[in-house]
Amino acid sequence: SELPETLRETIRRRDEVLGPGYTLIYREPVEFVSGHGAHLIDRDGHDYLDAYNNVPCVGHAHPHVAEAVSRQVATVNTNTRYVEESLVAYAERLLATFPDGLGRLSLACSGSEANDLAVRVAKFHTGGTGIIVTRWAYHGITSEVASFSPTLGAGSSLGPNVRVIDPPDPRLAPPGVALAEHMRRQVRGAIDDLERHGFRLAALITDGAYSSDGIFTDPVGYLKDMLEEVHAAGGVYIADEVQAGFARLGETMWGFSRHGALPDIVTMGKPMGNGMPISGVVFRPEVSDEFGRNVRYFNTFGGSSIPVAAGAAVLDVFEEENVRQRVLENGTALRKGLEEITKDSAHVAEVRGSGLYVGVEIVEDRQAGEPDRARAEDVVNDLRDRRVLISGTGPAANVLKIRPPLAFTAADVTRFLETFAEVAKARL
Ligand code: PMP
Repeated sequence: SELPETLRETIRRRDEVLGPGYTLIYREPVEFVSGHGAHLIDRDGHDYLDAYNNVPCVGHAHPHVAEAVSRQVATVNTNTRYVEESLVAYAERLLATFPDGLGRLSLACSGSEANDLAVRVAKFHTGGTGIIVTRWAYHGITSEVASFSPTLGAGSSLGPNVRVIDPPDPRLAPPGVALAEHMRRQVRGAIDDLERHGFRLAALITDGAYSSDGIFTDPVGYLKDMLEEVHAAGGVYIADEVQAGFARLGETMWGFSRHGALPDIVTMGKPMGNGMPISGVVFRPEVSDEFGRNVRYFNTFGGSSIPVAAGAAVLDVFEEENVRQRVLENGTALRKGLEEITKDSAHVAEVRGSGLYVGVEIVEDRQAGEPDRARAEDVVNDLRDRRVLISGTGPAANVLKIRPPLAFTAADVTRFLETFAEVAKARL
């Protein structure tokens, strides 16, 4: 191994105290001591291009967010049991980015907590308990949320009230069946099966980017068909925007808007505070107010002053730096470049995605389409050796997951594509 002895020693001590659950990315793990924009710096001062992390959405260590958080830390931190103008103003600003009808906000600290609350409210409102998710979805780690996250490993099982459907991969639809019809039929089938087993539908929940399913952002439009079935059965739709939200997909602030559909509940997290733990749940008031009147939900840190200061600073940057437009331009350039580099490759089935969320599906050969996990891992690690960071996703981990901070610049796109082309020459 080329790892410095000190880093190897840190990893050994790490394994000792954290145990086997804490896996690292890359054959040669890496440690960073600072960052800026879409760049991470290691102990020796080497600059890595971060094309993977979505939490630092406006860029690592963004000065405006750092300043807002430092100021709040040095002033006061209170919670939602006290009146705070900054919380009210933040809620108004955030809700203004949603379509009419989505008018209530609850705050928590992680995407898992947000989804946990969303499903609790959905169950309370509908009186049902059935949940529908996609086959390889990931929605989080509380015991409730884990029970509808099929990708948590052999030791974690789905609840008896949970049904899975295919993600919106047009190739999974039966021949001659349009994607929207395929998705509608699956939702209908899942509802029927739940009812046969005595479960009434509470919610359909989907990740707007279908990240762990393998990244499926297009085509759009089928969501409305799915929601007709959900609503006809008395259920609600929860849009999990932890991945797709905050302009990740470029065209719109929220992934569901690309479908022209209106969710009943929306959850968000990761990029919301650029690294400060803050997550949110947005509701149609008709869905949440009865819960609010009857169930006590107090979240000590959720909605407290410091994370809210971070959230507000992120919204400032979105406005000042015209983030969404940049995501659209740089994301398109990134995807076009990747298509160009891989167009003759026998090992690339598809380049897909939207905005700054791109998936490159690696296969044994284009005709057979068998997933090639080992080759995808080689590409990920070759890129890391050239100081460019991505990872893999999908049920076979054969889809390159390219999801940089939204601060990714045109120069970053160029560096990424040049490095990718070098790796592709050997591996793809
Ligand atoms: N939903 C989705 C779609 C996610 O990707 C994640 C995190 N990977 C979560 C929920 C859970 O968020 P957290 O890790 O903040 O609990």
